[in-house]
Amino acid sequence: MSVYTPQTIEEAVELLATHPDAMLLSGGTDFMVEVNFNHRKPTEVVSTKAINELKVWDVDHSSHTVFIGAGVTYSTIEATEIAEVVPALAEASRTVGSPQIRAAGTLGGNLGTCSPAGDTLPVLAALEARIVIASPGSHREVAFADFMVGAKKNSLRSGEMVVGVSLPIVRGWQGYAKVGVRNAMVISIASACLVRDDVDDSVKVALGSVGPTIIRAHDAEAWWKDQTVPRSKEMFAEFGARCALEAKPITDHRSTADYRRHAVKVLCARLAARSSSR
Ligand SMILES: Cc1cc2nc3c(=O)[nH]c(=O)nc-3n(C[C@H](O)[C@H](O)[C@H](O)COP(=O)(O)OP(=O)(O)OC[C@H]3O[C@@H](n4cnc5c(N)ncnc54)[C@H](O)[C@@H]3O)c2cc1C
Repeated sequence: MSVYTPQTIEEAVELLATHPDAMLLSGGTDFMVEVNFNHRKPTEVVSTKAINELKVWDVDHSSHTVFIGAGVTYSTIEATEIAEVVPALAEASRTVGSPQIRAAGTLGGNLGTCSPAGDTLPVLAALEARIVIASPGSHREVAFADFMVGAKKNSLRSGEMVVGVSLPIVRGWQGYAKVGVRNAMVISIASACLVRDDVDDSVKVALGSVGPTIIRAHDAEAWWKDQTVPRSKEMFAEFGARCALEAKPITDHRSTADYRRHAVKVLCARLAARSSSR
């Protein structure tokens, strides 16, 4: 196996373009599991480890945006100013694996794998993140909704890699919650992120592990906006039920479709209630 260790993004994408079979390796927490189980047999690997440009993050209060490099780990997201300005992303990061996985695993790797159970992905969907992508000599940006195109499928083209993610700093409450078979070291059975914007009291909700892609509960969001009565317990329950109607869960080795739908209902009602109890 040939392992390349480029120092810059440009070198990395040149390598990907000239070695079409080469696979990107970041923290290796997904990649190496696949290699160990013989699901992936790489002959050429491009490691991102030495690319410092991918490990940067920046909070820009004047433009109300945060940029997080693809090589930023979960433990960095949890422990820096990122956690203050995008708290839902920090909450999601805290639920990933163990401290060892969070020290190695990266945001770019979560996007590379693009599993519907990826914990950061509902947050990126609810915040309408833009994914910054590099290829030799150019950069492009896509909305998260156009980036994730199926279960473990993203819209990266040959020779491209994720450079980072651009997120808005929203004035209002945001939170992430997930259900699994235990409290830690668990892949979600269902997850949800809710972002409430104080400016117009709108909400954005994204659901994980209940469809081939992350699902935005657009109908429930619109219903929330139409409500003129004061927010109440009944309203949160109704909102949760409406979010569950938009889930497209399946039954698999982790859970049943019915339980997943029920979990979405409970998670979304709770997130809505928390958003109102500030
Ligand atoms: C024990 C264990 C527990 C886990 N628990 C969770 C969990 O609770 N929640 C969760 O979401 N995940 C979990 N994971 C999965 C994994 O940790 C995450 O998906 C992590 O974000 C992967 O990042 P990485 O840097 O290790 O990526 P890698 O394993 O290096 O790469 C993953 C994929 O992304 C591609 N890739 C890497 N970098 C880029 C880039 N810059 N641009 C484009 N493609 C890229 C790779 O080619 C590969 O296909 C767990 C894994 C393990 C082993």
